[in-house]
Amino acid sequence: MQSSLRIVWIYPDLLSTYGDQGNVLVLEQRAHKRGIPVETVHVRSSDPVPEQGDIYLIGGGEDRPQILGAERLRRDGGLQRAIARGAALLAVCAGYQIMGSVFGGEEGQPVPGIGLLDISSSRGERRSVGELAADVDPELGVPTLTGFENHMGVTHLGPGVRPLSKTIVGTGNGDGTEGCHTGKIVGTYLHGPALARNPGLADLLLRWAVGPLPAIEDGWYERLRQERLAAVLP
Ligand code: GLN
Repeated sequence: MQSSLRIVWIYPDLLSTYGDQGNVLVLEQRAHKRGIPVETVHVRSSDPVPEQGDIYLIGGGEDRPQILGAERLRRDGGLQRAIARGAALLAVCAGYQIMGSVFGGEEGQPVPGIGLLDISSSRGERRSVGELAADVDPELGVPTLTGFENHMGVTHLGPGVRPLSKTIVGTGNGDGTEGCHTGKIVGTYLHGPALARNPGLADLLLRWAVGPLPAIEDGWYERLRQERLAAVLP
């Protein structure tokens, strides 16, 4: 068994809006509570993405940093090699769109993504801002998601991915679904940060990386999730 869990946070200098950094902290904390040692690497956009990580995280951002981030990831190739090796990935909002074949730039122009997910995104008619709640694909065993979204893009899912969830409240991909998953990759529009508001999603990533996990006391997280659900559900 490897000695520690390696978490790689990609491009905090470009892509980390609405508390996305919290996703790193939540994974670290939930691993520590299970006695799993963690090494976290913060990879600035001027540096190569290491290939030996177990869980990669990338967050949201404005259009220009998103375009820059996509170019650098494409040229670097480290994340693509890590995923080919079997690493897990959580990609949020701008980071989610970058994982597809194409997304919309600041004028709506098509910008190439890095093609790790069979999705394509384009600029929608209006910005989607607000709370979101969504029922997760039952095969993942994660309770109803809550989070905050703020994006112009809409995302079309191809046959190579499954929707992460069905929206109850909010826009998500724009077709009644929110996010997507395939293999050990999850893409989502959820900020909040997503893993603080959805500990089940955090544990899914941890299980993908290290195997079965003992349960931990989730009182505070669960209270927050229930409070947000009660606030937004019809
Ligand atoms: N620029 C993208 C969009 O508006 C992503 C926004 C974000 O990451 N919050 O769709």
